[in-house]
Amino acid sequence: MSHHKLGLAYAQQKDQADTLASYRDRFHIPKHNDGTDVIYMTGNSLGLQPKSTKEYIHQELEDWASLGVEGHTQAKNPWLHYHELLTNSMAEVVGAKPIEVIVMNTLTVNLHLMMVSFYKPSQKRFKILIEADAFPSDKYAVESQLIHHGFDPKDGVLLWKAREGEELANYEDLEAIMENQGDDIALIMIGGVNYYTGQFFDFKRITQLGHKHGCMVGFDCAHGAGNVALNLHDSGADFAVWCTYKYLNSGPGSLGGAFVHERHAHHKDLNRFAGWWSHNKATRFKMRDEFDQLPGAEGWQLSNPPILSMAAIRASLDMFAEVGMEQLIVKSKELTGYFEFLLKQLGSNSIKIITPSNPDERGCQLSIQVKNADKALHSKLTEAGIITDWREPDVIRCAPTPLYNSFQDVYNLVEKLKHILN
Ligand SMILES: *Cc1c(COP(=O)(O)O)cnc(C)c1O
Repeated sequence: MSHHKLGLAYAQQKDQADTLASYRDRFHIPKHNDGTDVIYMTGNSLGLQPKSTKEYIHQELEDWASLGVEGHTQAKNPWLHYHELLTNSMAEVVGAKPIEVIVMNTLTVNLHLMMVSFYKPSQKRFKILIEADAFPSDKYAVESQLIHHGFDPKDGVLLWKAREGEELANYEDLEAIMENQGDDIALIMIGGVNYYTGQFFDFKRITQLGHKHGCMVGFDCAHGAGNVALNLHDSGADFAVWCTYKYLNSGPGSLGGAFVHERHAHHKDLNRFAGWWSHNKATRFKMRDEFDQLPGAEGWQLSNPPILSMAAIRASLDMFAEVGMEQLIVKSKELTGYFEFLLKQLGSNSIKIITPSNPDERGCQLSIQVKNADKALHSKLTEAGIITDWREPDVIRCAPTPLYNSFQDVYNLVEKLKHILN
């Protein structure tokens, strides 16, 4: 039984009691064509811009203008060490130790770099297990790694599929795959929160199962970072990657993050690609030295990073540090639980929520499956100033994010949906 109530007054009351409500004002909210704020439910795709981002970027533009190359050491936030300003708060967000986390590159690039180190196929053990309906980029990345090592993706990619007539993947099926084929699998690489269904997987359970069978285990946390309690360190996973432009609100195409478990931090023999930014910071500029591997996740860096993008990430992470994931998740569960309650109250046969109903097995996103794949429902929401997204074949994804979405946003969305369905 839900503790939520129907009616606008209840939504207003929830907003008044919400200790995070003021954060909404710290974001730019796009406007609908009638001049009112849109109801933005696509923070899972591109997070909104914090109002502070401009100042953070401006600082670096100013320092570049006035200092030129000297900014590497003389800027207010010296560029040489800028990424270190992000490490602690990013580690907090993903539940890792600072030595396990680095902000660099973009997600798919990082996924490849991680597979260079953690996908080491042999003739006997070369398969990669991914979840069915994985995000296309992950699937392409995994297939191309197989080809790179001389294997045929048709033999090399194993899918963890939902059962016939079901939407969610089932752990018993995973156990069965591992029992039967565990010895053939080199790597398990799962989208930690599935982009389509919103299912948040049990990282620890999957990692333990994988390790028991001698596999490496990694997670793509694009839909997890800034959304759910990832507890990457405790999960025991070998690696993880994510982006910062979804729930972490750092702007289109902004840099991604990577996690490498502490147990690999000082493992210098691990195969990897290197560049000058993987080299010991103390002697990096001597330029003539033998390569000297940096310990920890920092040792996977290749290039000196784009400071303007990092400034945007810093603006966002400072806000996350202020709020803390714990508080954020409390509101998130309340907000999404309310959303689910209202949707169920509609009692419509035309829509069905496919996201897990257990709040510990999802983040803020609810995926609404539309009967007969009727895309008109999504178009009508958009026309009404409600920004959701449509994912083929038949799902509308809605992600009420706890930092800037309100209970009234959710109320208004469902009212509009009710109107359209009738
Ligand atoms: C968003 C997303 C990506 C995007 O990859 P980029 O390299 O940042 O373009 C990849 N995988 C998943 C699961 C995603 O959700």
